[in-house]
Amino acid sequence: MKESLKKNDLVTLSITDLGSSGEGIGKVDGFTLFVKDALIGDTIQAKIIKMKKSYGYGRLMEILTPSPYRTEARCPQARACGGCQIQPLAYEDQLTYKENKVRELLERVGKIGEYEMEPIIGMEEPWYYRNKAQFPVGRNKEGDIVTGFYAGRTHSIVPVDECFIQHPMNRQLMDIVKKWMKDCKAAPYDEVSHTGLVRHIFTRIGKYTGEIMVCLVINGKRIPAAEELVAALKSVPGMTSICLNINREKSNVILGSTVKCLWGKPYITDKIGDVVYQISPLSFFQVNPVQTQKLYRTAMEYAGLSGKETVWDLYCGIGTISLFLAQCAKKVYGVEIVPQAIEDAGKNALLNHIENVEFFVGKAEEVLPEQYEKFGVYADVIVVDPPRKGCDEKLLRCMVQMAPKRIVYVSCDPATLARDLHFLETNGYKVKKVRCVDMFAHSVHVETIVLMSRVEKK
Ligand code: SAH
Repeated sequence: MKESLKKNDLVTLSITDLGSSGEGIGKVDGFTLFVKDALIGDTIQAKIIKMKKSYGYGRLMEILTPSPYRTEARCPQARACGGCQIQPLAYEDQLTYKENKVRELLERVGKIGEYEMEPIIGMEEPWYYRNKAQFPVGRNKEGDIVTGFYAGRTHSIVPVDECFIQHPMNRQLMDIVKKWMKDCKAAPYDEVSHTGLVRHIFTRIGKYTGEIMVCLVINGKRIPAAEELVAALKSVPGMTSICLNINREKSNVILGSTVKCLWGKPYITDKIGDVVYQISPLSFFQVNPVQTQKLYRTAMEYAGLSGKETVWDLYCGIGTISLFLAQCAKKVYGVEIVPQAIEDAGKNALLNHIENVEFFVGKAEEVLPEQYEKFGVYADVIVVDPPRKGCDEKLLRCMVQMAPKRIVYVSCDPATLARDLHFLETNGYKVKKVRCVDMFAHSVHVETIVLMSRVEKK
């Protein structure tokens, strides 16, 4: 039947799933089509824009019968922006979709049999939840300075006055910077000609401390009329840090490697539970502090610590999970590939007077096997929190050899999670509990946490 489909054909289909970027997925006579902006439950008319061997892409032409889950997106720019791919799904339905996705992958790819799926932890307030924003700066057609987002695959900026997942304070901060740019004639950066000064306005706002950082990312070494910018910004209650980040590269990476502090401290502080963190513009820090705390509490519960355990926290970043667990463990070892993150981890341990942690820089799949072979290191519990690609098999093998009683797997990609759990289940572990945590409302992303126990040999 597929042979009869070709580019520019108009087809009718029902959307039955969402892809990894939130695009609708449906079938036409058994042939899979991906259609941006179509929602699960919609029946649509689409125009075929690209054909591949086993799938194709369509453009949404008309929604014939809207999905019963469809609501009005709160943000008028949701469709163009692409940051909130599933904003038109009612929040409760987003949660159901995410949980079903995880369950389906665990069963189909992971071949996981019996386990307890605890209810997904959704957000009480699924708006204004991010603590970090990075707005590109440009000009609109009239030549006014605007902040917003890059319209898909172009260099033009779609102005957005308010982003509903960012802290409302951002609006005031953007207005101050835009006014300063206008007054002192600081030009926005132009990606095509690689000219102009101000590339991005980067902000962080501490959820629990209210401390604010504004960092201008510039294509230069300094800014004109710095005193005026500082004077205007420091009058904002909570302002703690005003910085410049130097990025003179012709690239779409947002931050450069040099930071200069213009006023205040070069960092802000914030808390997760009782642990305090110093966060500089270049530090990695979870963007949703409220849900992070719930995620780490679940990690703590799954780790089942009594105070006597030795724990390895692999892919530890700035040591957030390590420090959280150290409060209830004998000793925690963290491993992370980025040296600056480990520097932050060490500083945060000192700041919180946590002494029972030790950090290693390197690849988890190299550091752990080396430590195990050379020194026979031991673990009661191993926690892993890998990036989307999941764990290296070499690491999983070493974990199995070390035979901890429990493994806690924190994952941002349920497909690689399912693959890794399958490996561990065929090598002496059993999935006991699974729980999803929604860290990114209105996007398709979902965080999953899994408790595995070692199967006792009879
Ligand atoms: N657990 C941390 C960070 C998790 S993000 C937190 O909750 O904040 C995943 C981390 O894995 C990143 O910091 C990334 O730099 C690191 N990473 C990526 N590949 C790695 C590898 N092969 N070995 C160790 N760390 C790695």
